[in-house]
Amino acid sequence: MIVQMKKYATEKEIKKLVDFLTERGFSVKDISSEEIKMFGVVGDTMNLNVSHIEAFEGVYKVHKIQKTYRLASRDYKKEDTIIKVKEGLTIGGGSFQIIAGPCAVEDKETMIEIAENLRDNNVKMIRGGVFKPRTSPYSFQGLGIAGLKMLKEVADKYNLVVVTEVISPEQVDLIKDYVDIYQVGTRNMQNYPLLKVLGAQKKPVIIKRGMSATIEEWLLSAEYVLEGGNPNVILCERGIRTFERYTRNTLDITAVLAVKELSHLPVMVDPSHASGKYEMIEKLSLASLVVGADGIMVEIHPHPEKAYSDGAQSLKLHKFNSLVKEVNRLKKVL
Ligand code: PEP
Ligand code: MN
Repeated sequence: MIVQMKKYATEKEIKKLVDFLTERGFSVKDISSEEIKMFGVVGDTMNLNVSHIEAFEGVYKVHKIQKTYRLASRDYKKEDTIIKVKEGLTIGGGSFQIIAGPCAVEDKETMIEIAENLRDNNVKMIRGGVFKPRTSPYSFQGLGIAGLKMLKEVADKYNLVVVTEVISPEQVDLIKDYVDIYQVGTRNMQNYPLLKVLGAQKKPVIIKRGMSATIEEWLLSAEYVLEGGNPNVILCERGIRTFERYTRNTLDITAVLAVKELSHLPVMVDPSHASGKYEMIEKLSLASLVVGADGIMVEIHPHPEKAYSDGAQSLKLHKFNSLVKEVNRLKKVL
């Protein structure tokens, strides 16, 4: 950490700050230039509160150098984390996995049709929301626990893994026997009580990037779950909100590269929510593969025009078949 002093900071002000830091075990070195008076603070500055230091008289600005997250960082763990979802099924470390399914669980027939399609495409993970965090209270809110039981029944029949969104801490206990991977949605990336409860679980947690979250804030959300004792965290870039309205969101493909650099955690891409347009999903999926994402999460539906939610960004099943084929073709040449 570097503490930059005001040009006319007094000796007394400087001494007060240096004493405060040294008393707490930090070593403080004067690294001033002719122009700028500043000090390097060495030690575990993770828990040092920047605004406390900036509140000292004579301090101009504090520059933090140490990362604000520890367990999620590549400095903490050099090798990629590979998450075991079940025997023979992992996420991370070079494999490119696909999670697919409808935005929301609607009825059993639709789920069976989708599950059969996944089986035929050798896709192992089915998604489906039953607690839908909708922007409008008048929109379909999901079938709740009854829908989850339906999803689990179909998933078991086709040997698929269940991925579903959880939106409150109390739900975790209620749904834990029916879920293989918990999904934390964009609207709940900063639901810290929820992240804490998921930190006490063993099953993997996918954390979608908050709509307006920086990469650092996103990694700090992962840190909550890791710090709670659950090492099985997967990140998912799902587009961020920008000034552009042509697409639903803006897919920040650079975030995949950034996360790979900064963290050892797997990172997937959701091209459905990123674009809001089914026509873009295949190409964005291939782009995700090229930049080194660990997989994609895609919305699919046999009849998108009848879907209760997100139909416009759901692939018809034959289009999903083509996506899987193209992904496999590209995998071979990468
Ligand atoms: C979803 O996956 O259906 C969903 C609501 O996603 P997000 O949280 O990314 O909007
Ligand atoms: Mn959706």
